[in-house]
Amino acid sequence: MTLRLYNTMTRSVEPFTPLDAGRVSLYTCGPTVYNYAHIGNFRTFLFEDVLRRWLEASGYDVFHVMNLTDVDDKTIKGALAANASLGDYVVPFIDAFHEDRKYLHMLDADAYPRATEFIAPMVVLVQDLLAKGIAYRGDDGSVYFAIGKFPDYGRLSRLDTRELKTGAGGRVSADEYAKEDARDFVLWKAAREADEKVGAAWDAPFGRGRPGWHLECSAMALDLLAKRYGRDVLDIHAGGVDLVFPHHEDEIAQSCAHTGQPDFARVWMHGEFLTMSGTKMSKRFGNILTARDLRMDGVDAATLRLLFATTHYRQKLDFTDEALASAREGSRRLGEFASRVARQPGVEQSEFDRIALVLGDEFSAAMDDDLNTSQALAALFEATRAGNRALDAGEKPTAAFQSVWARMTGVLQVLPADPQALDDDGFRFVLESDGYPRERRLQEFWAVEMKNRRLEAKQSRNFAESDRIRALLAEHGWEVRDHRDGTAAVQRK
Ligand code: AMP
Ligand code: ZN
Repeated sequence: MTLRLYNTMTRSVEPFTPLDAGRVSLYTCGPTVYNYAHIGNFRTFLFEDVLRRWLEASGYDVFHVMNLTDVDDKTIKGALAANASLGDYVVPFIDAFHEDRKYLHMLDADAYPRATEFIAPMVVLVQDLLAKGIAYRGDDGSVYFAIGKFPDYGRLSRLDTRELKTGAGGRVSADEYAKEDARDFVLWKAAREADEKVGAAWDAPFGRGRPGWHLECSAMALDLLAKRYGRDVLDIHAGGVDLVFPHHEDEIAQSCAHTGQPDFARVWMHGEFLTMSGTKMSKRFGNILTARDLRMDGVDAATLRLLFATTHYRQKLDFTDEALASAREGSRRLGEFASRVARQPGVEQSEFDRIALVLGDEFSAAMDDDLNTSQALAALFEATRAGNRALDAGEKPTAAFQSVWARMTGVLQVLPADPQALDDDGFRFVLESDGYPRERRLQEFWAVEMKNRRLEAKQSRNFAESDRIRALLAEHGWEVRDHRDGTAAVQRK
């Protein structure tokens, strides 16, 4: 089966084919760094991390960009209140975000562009839209996007014009009167005193000011993509469901008006909200829980990741203590089995080959079906049950099983941090699942392959060859260990 993903643009699950074979450009809207990100934000980020890990496990080379929104109303307000410059104000929140995402085992993106570092391409984009007559300068000195000149507007969110006019445009502010049409959105906000005070204003040919939030993502994605691939269309653009409108709708309008392409991304993916006691997490309701709160409480990343994986990313998930406790128990069960397996010497063939086959098939089918993580988890638990039974019956794990198990648990990152996974002298078992960067995966496949070859050489009494392979592996940090029932390659931690 091939990977199929739900595309918000078409409202359907479609086979996924990237623009260029074998590689995927992924842009995910990152945090606004005015505060600590809450676990609702992290539900979205972790869904994107699982997407990324599954794309990589499926053999794609992924180029992942996650922006950091460091200039917008919220960061400016925060800086003003703290009597700090914008630059100084956001730094600790950027650091905290990286700390939190590492705690939650999110893979490093290839780039974390900060909006304030991409003002130049934003200015170029606005200039182009002005030159094309799709943008105009309002009486207040701000630059607006003229929705009336972009017939495709509203395609992603499917809001009709009437709704746009009366409802979603929303807040009536002083700005509204400077626009030609109430639906138009701001590309560039004329500098105000507060912006100047915190250092959030830049010169531009169309007037001093600062970028609008939507403009930031368009400019950064286009700039980084073009540099990397010479492309102006993304393969996948993802975010939380609240970004469909207006954020992504406006990104499409600006980007497509600029590039002339029919779309800005081939697939638009949106994760549903995490709620607490049924209410959307927000400052206003006082029901905020941050990743650091969980870390202080000693919650293992695997517990939270398993909890999130129990519910499909397009369904709402309510966060409760009970759900967290049962996720902890689930993760413990998986971990207990993993360390039981790690303590066993590997063999060439056993019942575990069959378990590996079923796990590989079922897990992949579930993930290929628009990231059905709850089905994928079910496959892991089924393999755990069958594996425990097999171990009880005296069967020993095989390299094939270890490889599949490590790959699958690695995608979801649901194994607890378990010191027992280390064997006596500080070696980590060959196919442990944590992290799983591309190079490591290849290295591991290579090591398993080589240690098998060495065993064959040894069995056919070609000791020169077996010694040669042992030395080669050692050179790359692997040690071959012979056991009564087989051989294993282990890597120094
Ligand atoms: P922000 O920092 O507000 O720009 O949001 C960062 C990301 O978190 C965006 O993709 C939002 O859609 C997402 N997000 C915000 N609140 C929640 C929530 N309660 N549940 C899931 N995702 C959320
Ligand atoms: Zn964005």
